[in-house]
Formats: sequence, structure tokens, C-alpha cells
Amino acid sequence: MRIVISADIEGISGVASLKETGTEGDGAPADYQMAQRWLTGDVNAAVEGAMEAGAASFVLHESHGLDLRNVLLDELHPAVEVVRGRPVIFYEEADLGRGYNGAFLIGMHARAGESAILSHVLSWPLLRDVRVNGQPVGEAELTISLAASYGIPTVLITGDDRVCLDIQRWSGGQIEAAVVKYSLSRYAARCLPLIEARERIRQAARRAVERLSTARPVGFTPPITLEVELVEREIARSVAWMPEIGYDGDRTVRYVGESFRQVYRVLLAIFWMATSRLNPL
Ligand SMILES: [Zn+2]
Repeated sequence: MRIVISADIEGISGVASLKETGTEGDGAPADYQMAQRWLTGDVNAAVEGAMEAGAASFVLHESHGLDLRNVLLDELHPAVEVVRGRPVIFYEEADLGRGYNGAFLIGMHARAGESAILSHVLSWPLLRDVRVNGQPVGEAELTISLAASYGIPTVLITGDDRVCLDIQRWSGGQIEAAVVKYSLSRYAARCLPLIEARERIRQAARRAVERLSTARPVGFTPPITLEVELVEREIARSVAWMPEIGYDGDRTVRYVGESFRQVYRVLLAIFWMATSRLNPL
């Protein structure tokens, strides 16, 4: 059995500050390096649990930061290959043609606007909101839908209590969750001891793989309407220069696609425009 893993950092055991995510300039490098070790520990715990239930090989898709390089290769479980570096279109470079049985989401955070630890969507603070078919979504829903577009069911999520609850509700309880910390605000969390958090991850991963035979992909039904609310009006105006992009005249752009994968590519292109050096923010 083969598993594709996406790993973010905001929902990793112990992480509670933007400084630990490596994306805030004044963060001490030691903060980020500590979080890298915690991230690698969470991934390893999921891999160990999955192997107990019969999974044999793994591809990890790094999904944090513009650089997409976070995991510590020296400490990573030897059964895991890693897709790292940028730019990539998420999952397209994970060699999905080899046939994955399931997907794991490790270290996830709540969507933008939620009062939950380090909540955001794709870019903090350049994207204010992303909606798919009218529903506000976070990176978890986006990644689960992307995996579904390849026919791959996502079977595990780890992160704070908010994102785990959101995704369990959205998926109708189909996705196993390991809560590793409890959100007290966007900037504070009650974190479990690392050893307990990883035990939860290991057990949830084992259950997830045991349930694989009955798991089905969860996603949105085409046609897919994407709305992206940007912080900067000038970026929204520039995005709307492209054909087939709708524009509300303020900060929100809109696109309708025939498949989720097509819509996801458009979203990533908007993300890259929003994070370009042209952006005055
Ligand atoms: Zn992240």
C-alpha cells in the first residue's frame, strides 16, 4: 500500500507562534529549527502507524512556506520519499501515476478568519478568503479535494482541534483525526506533550489505513466556482486582466472551471501573483 502525505507546519505538535513557522522575519532561526524537528516527528509517527496496518511506501509533499522545504531529511523515516522545493503544483509532481491508496494531511491549521491557532489560507496575510461553490475553505478542504480529483481518498488529518472538527464534519466522519493541540486563540494553544501527540497520530494513522478499503474520495461537484478575496485591490485588478476571470471591482476575483484540478491551478496562479514582488504589502 502506498500513501501520499502532505505536511504543513502550523498544525504540528507544539507549534504555536508564527516565529516557529519560519515565515516571520524576526523569528530566531532556532524557533523554526525546533519546529522542523517537531514536524519530522509528527510525520514519522504517522508513517509508523500506517506501516503497522500494512502501508509500505510513502511520498511526502512538503506544503509549507514559499520554499516548500521543512522536513529534516536526516531524521525522516527511511520509507519516505520527499517532493521539496518550488514551484510545484501540489500533488502533480508526486508521481501519482504509481497509484496511491490514500492520502494523509499532517500539521493542518484552520481556514482564514477562524479564531484558531495560526489560521489562514495559502498566504498570510495576502489572501483574505477562498470559497469553493460558495463555501469558505481552508488548505485542508483544498488538498482533500485535489487528492479526490485523482481518485485518492484522504483518510487522516492531524492538527489543532478546530481544523480536525471542521474536516470531520465536512467529510461526514470519513477522515480519521489526531488532535495534537487545542486552540485558545489565533495566537495561543494548549499543546499536548509531544509523546502523547505522536501516539495519537500513530494510532489514528493505523486506523486510517485499516479503513482504506471502504474509504471514498471527498470533494466538490463540478462545475466548480472559485472565489478568491485578496487583501490588495491592485492584485485583484491585475488577476482580472486574464480572460474568464470575473471581478467584483473591489478585492474579489472569480473563476468557474469544469474540474477541481483546473480550478486549483487557477488558484495557485493567483497565489503566485499575490505573493509576487509587485505586491506592495
Ligand atoms: Zn503552512
